[in-house]
This record gives sequence, structure tokens and C-alpha cells, in this order.
Amino acid sequence: MKPFEQLQALLEANKEIADSGIFTGGFRRQNREKAVKEGQHPKAIVVSCSDSRVIPELIFNCGVGDLFVIRTAGEVVSDVELASIAYGIEHLGIELVIVLGHDRCGAVAAAINGELEGAVAPVTNKVNEAIGDTKSPKIGELRNVQFEAEVIKEKLGLKDTNVLVAPALYDIASGLVELR
Ligand SMILES: [Zn+2]
Repeated sequence: MKPFEQLQALLEANKEIADSGIFTGGFRRQNREKAVKEGQHPKAIVVSCSDSRVIPELIFNCGVGDLFVIRTAGEVVSDVELASIAYGIEHLGIELVIVLGHDRCGAVAAAINGELEGAVAPVTNKVNEAIGDTKSPKIGELRNVQFEAEVIKEKLGLKDTNVLVAPALYDIASGLVELR
């Protein structure tokens, strides 16, 4: 499946599970055994916030071996996360990267509130760089996800490749993902 088609299929799966609430992604014994026997062939890399309400496998109704997930607070990517994404692309042959931000993001709120020191600084400084001087959480969340998508494209040299990097925002209450 081409990366754009894969993206559409995952968005369709998201709509269905947001509506039904029923997970059919596959975490049964036979799913796990199949994944051991056949190895992993993930459909997408998902770079998501660590927020406990944002759960990529549930959001896209995906099971064992379907998603290669990288999660950090505020979905910020540093060298280690970039290396993980590069591994997924180069070694697992994944051509779709979804960068998944969300509403009510604590990392964006912390950056807006100027919490730029202490142990959380590596996250909040990165988010601060992404969002500029906005005081609006909504604008901050949008800018942040778009910024990280650009960082991934640029640092991994993906601009003229088949790899599709798609910024998206997840709405916790509706359960829906929208491309941004
Ligand atoms: Zn968040």
C-alpha cells in the first residue's frame, strides 16, 4: 500500500473505532504468535505525545506489529527519537510517519506558562521554540505538531523521498484524528 493510501486506511479505522469504541486491532494469542513467526511489518511510525489519554494503537484500532510508536511528552523529537524513526524507515521499510499531537497537551501548556527550567526543560524549551509567542493552547498544539514534522523531514532528509510525514491532531473527547 502506498503511504497516502495507508494514511487514509488508518484514518478510516480511527473513525470507526471512535464511533464504536470497539477494539478489533488484534492482541490475541494467534496475533502475537503470527507476529513472532512472520516478524514485524508495521504500517506506520507514530510519533505521539506520552499523554495517557493518547494511545496510538487504540486510536487507530491497531494490534501487534502494526505501529512503530515513539512517544515523548509534547511529541518532541531529539537525536534519540530521530534515530528510532530512521530505524523504522531504513530497517523496517516504513513509508508513513504520523506525528500526533492532541488537545489539552500538558507539554504545550507548560511551555506557554514559561516553565522552561529544571528537569522538564529539554521538553518545554523545544515546544517553546516550536510555538513562538502564542498564548493560545490550540495554536500552540498546531504549531508544535507541524514543527516536529518539519524537523523529522529535514533532519532525516525525507523531502524528496517516498516517505510521507503527516502532522495530525487528536481530540481526546471525540476520539478523532485530523490531519493538520
Ligand atoms: Zn501532550
